[in-house]
Order: sequence, then structure tokens, then C-alpha cells
Amino acid sequence: MGDPTGFMQYDRELEPDRSPSERIKDWKEFHKHLPEDKLKTQGSRCMDCGIPFCQTGDMLGGLTSGCPINNLIPEWNDLVFKGLWREALDRLHKTNNFPEFTGRVCPAPCEGSCVLGLNEPAVTIKSIECTIIDKGYEEGWVVPEPPKVRTGKQVAVIGSGPAGLACAAQLNKAGHLVTVFERDDRIGGLLMYGIPNPHLDKSIVDRRVNLLKEEGITFVTSTEIGKDYPSEKLVKDFDAVVICTGATKPRDLTIEGGELNGIHFAMDFLRANTKSLLDSNLEDGNYISAKDKNVIVLGGGDTGTDCVATSMRHGCKSLLQFEILPTPPMERAPDNPWPQWPKVYSLNYGQEEAMAVFGEDPRKYEVLTTKFVGDDEGNVKELHTVKIEWHSGDNGRPSFKEVPGSEEVWPADRVFLALGFLGPEDTVIEQLNIERDERSNAKAEYGKYMTSVEGVFAAGDARRGQSLIVWAINEGREAARECDLYLMGSTNLP
Ligand SMILES: Cc1cc2nc3c(=O)[nH]c(=O)nc-3n(C[C@H](O)[C@H](O)[C@H](O)COP(=O)(O)OP(=O)(O)OC[C@H]3O[C@@H](n4cnc5c(N)ncnc54)[C@H](O)[C@@H]3O)c2cc1C
Ligand code: SF4
Repeated sequence: MGDPTGFMQYDRELEPDRSPSERIKDWKEFHKHLPEDKLKTQGSRCMDCGIPFCQTGDMLGGLTSGCPINNLIPEWNDLVFKGLWREALDRLHKTNNFPEFTGRVCPAPCEGSCVLGLNEPAVTIKSIECTIIDKGYEEGWVVPEPPKVRTGKQVAVIGSGPAGLACAAQLNKAGHLVTVFERDDRIGGLLMYGIPNPHLDKSIVDRRVNLLKEEGITFVTSTEIGKDYPSEKLVKDFDAVVICTGATKPRDLTIEGGELNGIHFAMDFLRANTKSLLDSNLEDGNYISAKDKNVIVLGGGDTGTDCVATSMRHGCKSLLQFEILPTPPMERAPDNPWPQWPKVYSLNYGQEEAMAVFGEDPRKYEVLTTKFVGDDEGNVKELHTVKIEWHSGDNGRPSFKEVPGSEEVWPADRVFLALGFLGPEDTVIEQLNIERDERSNAKAEYGKYMTSVEGVFAAGDARRGQSLIVWAINEGREAARECDLYLMGSTNLP
């Protein structure tokens, strides 16, 4: 710790994002970084704790606490304070293959469990991480590092999201010949076609994928395992297979009117938008437009926020976001103590943008959608809701009841369903006869990753259900280590 009193001398400081009313006019990233000298000061706020909760990475109260890839946070905070950026980058890459992704879009459970956060605002860990890697690229320090020796073993990775990419990167480091199969036309999984450009520019994803290619990984796009390439053949053709297919089955809302035109799953909206943007700058018209529409987003999570931000950039006429859960408290509730992830009210980027244009937070809490009503041509025109109240049920589990007389009708020409995901798709798992867990994910013990089929591993959302990029990186790395052990009898991978 370079400055033992930094945490007492300096306040937390972040560079303000681009203003919401300005940024909705384009698809560029909205975060900005503090200048280097100010970030050094921020690094000096780190107390180099005896037990650095920031880097623990655990599940507490069902939520992530601390960094799941155990980033060596106090070490690089100190290196940044001392101006040793290159050393900080090396330290960061020891635990994280893709800090440019987590530094941009991770919710930063490290900051939620930072010890300083007990009585002061937490250290600006995420911003420091992002600047270390961005500077690393700018300075030309991030270069391909192909392995010196090849083992001759061939591994197939199915899916090119963060789990598949991290797994491939590590297996390639160990000298195996890795082929990543991706059914989409671009590499990156939800990094590419889930998270919209303003949150994660796609050139950032391509830049890393190009490095991985130069390191010797083969990428095969537009090839769906189970359809274009039989799963059984893949298992025979390769020495090991890692399933990183994500958890992409969307949760539907099966209520009256659900079949009407204009009601879409969030991912259909987001994926088509990014593809059209990348293919033609939205000139080809191959996307679902929210321009001049009354938009309602159902679901208050990250995916819902991305739908809000995308609708704002299209120029929607009105925007609302309905959430079934209660409004979160402004400060930690007594049953949500540090170092748990703080479940508190905050404005995410999409809501900030809607507020800048429409004057208020678009989210309405404790709202249950009861039916959709359409016009004569089968297009949705309104959404009916009722307010609900939550209480503790007989078995102690929360349940809700409808509030009499609270029915409302809202105009809606576009409805986006962002209600969560129900696990991995069936094709590969069924074709290979892989056992599933009680939530229908590919069953494989955390830390081991081998499925019920020998030589076939599973990692990321396909194994744990829809989660976070940082967990996908963690699982991809660990599955690579287990796979290496299986192939070689021993492993040097972390
Ligand atoms: C809209 C949205 C926004 C999100 N925002 C954030 C965020 O801001 N921060 C965060 O930390 N997390 C976020 N998440 C969650 C995060 O993106 C996921 O947890 C993470 O991407 C999971 O990584 P993965 O590699 O396991 O799967 P995915 O990223 O889902 O990748 C799976 C890949 O497998 C491919 N695939 C599937 N089946 C086959 C097959 N049979 N053959 C070939 N390829 C196949 C798919 O096309 C896909 O490319 C978000 C999720 C969504 C949906
Ligand atoms: S918990 Fe916070 S103050 Fe302590 S080492 Fe981690 S970043 Fe530094």
C-alpha cells in the first residue's frame, strides 16, 4: 500500500458518463475514464486489507460477493498508484483473460464487498481495471502469445461467449489445438449479440478475438453443433469437448394476447438491432424498430435495461418498464449486510436516458401484466395490469396478492419480454445424452466441469444458468484446467 492514509484523504471520484440526452443520438460507448493522475489517487484509496473481500468471489444470500475470478485487486491498485501500469497489466492478466469486457460491463461485485464500502464509498475498482487494460492496448503491450509447444491434442469448444473464449484461450495456452464452433455469424456470444454497443463496443470484442486467432485458435462460425455438425461426430473427431452454449431459452409470458404482433422476446430485439447496426448501420431495416412507438419493457433486470436503451436510440414515443418485484430500498436493508451485493435502488444507463427524455424513471414496481389487447389486424395496442403487494407466505416464502381496484390499461405498440432465461437449449445436451440438474442445466460439478459423458465438459451459463460474464470467464478458465488434466494427466493451468 503506497499511501496508508489515502482512504482518509481522498473521496471516491469517477469521470461522469457522456450525458444521457447526448449519447442517445448515437451507438457509441457512454463510459469515460478519469485521467491517469486522478486514477492514481483513486488507487491510493485502497487499504490493502488483510482480508481483501474485494477479491473473494463467493455467493452470499444468493448473490455474487467479491470478484469471481479472484482478481488481485489490492496489488494492481497499488501498482497504479505507483504509476507501474505495465506491471499492473501483467497482474490483471494473471486472473482475467478479458479485463476489457469486465472493466466495461461487470456489475462489479468487488466494489459491493470492498471493505472501505463499510463506511465510505468503495474504491473505484472497475474503472481502474478498465483503464489498465485500455492503456495496455494503447501502449501496444497486449500482443499475441502463442504457445511454444503443441501437445497434438484437439479440443472442440461449442459456443463463443465469454465462457467459450476463456476456455479456448486457456486450452490454447496449454498447447492444445482448439476449435471454437459458433452458430452465429460473429464470435462473442452475448458479448456480441446480447449487450448493446453503447455498453460494449463490438470493436472491443473483435480486437480480442483477433488476438486469439493470432495465438492459434480456430473459429468456425455459422455452424450449429447438433444441426450442421452432429454432436456425436464432434465427440469422435476431437479428444475432448467443452459445452459453452449459454442459457438462451427465454421465459415466456403465457397470458391472453401473447400471440399478438409487436410482442417480442428481448433477445430477438437486441440481437437483430446489433446485427443490422454492424452489417449496415441500420440501413438494411432488418431489425424491430421502436421508432415512434409506445414501448413497454417487461422485466427490470439488465436485459430489460438494454431494451430501454435501444428503444431510446430508435426514438420511441413513450417508454415504460414494469417490474413485478418491490422498489429496492435506497440503502442496504438489515437482511442485506456488507459484504453481500447491495440490493439498493439505482438508475442504470437505460433508465437514466429515459429519464432525461421523459422526465421520470420508466420503471414501475409491483406491477403484474394480466393481458395484451390487439387491434383488428392482430397488432398489440394495449397492455392491462394490476398492482400487487408482496407478503410472506405460510411457508415463509414471499408471495403476492393483487390490489383490488388497481387495474390499469397502457397504450403499447411494442412489448419486449425480458423475463429471464430458462436454461440451455436442448439439442447438444439431448444428442449426447448428458444428465441435467434440477434447473435443466448441463449437470457438472462446479470445479470439475465433467458432465455425465466422459471427455465432455460444460461451463458458463450452460452449466450454471444465466449469470454474469465474470462467472463465465471463471468457469471457462477452470473447465480448461480440468480438461487439460483429463487430456495430459497433469496440468499447469491456474
Ligand atoms: C441482454 C443481456 C445483457 C447482459 N448484460 C450483462 C452485463 O452487462 N454484465 C454481465 O456481467 N453479464 C451480462 N449478461 C449475462 C452474460 O452475458 C452471460 O452470463 C454470459 O454471456 C454467459 O456466457 P456464456 O459463454 O456461458 O454464454 P453466451 O454468452 O450465451 O454464449 C453462448 C454461445 O453459444 C452459441 N451456441 C449455442 N448453441 C450452439 C450450438 N449448438 N452450436 C454452436 N454454437 C452454439 C450461442 O450462439 C452463443 O454465441 C447479460 C445477458 C443478456 C441476455
Ligand atoms: S476490499 Fe477495498 S480497500 Fe480492501 S483491498 Fe480490496 S479494494 Fe482495497
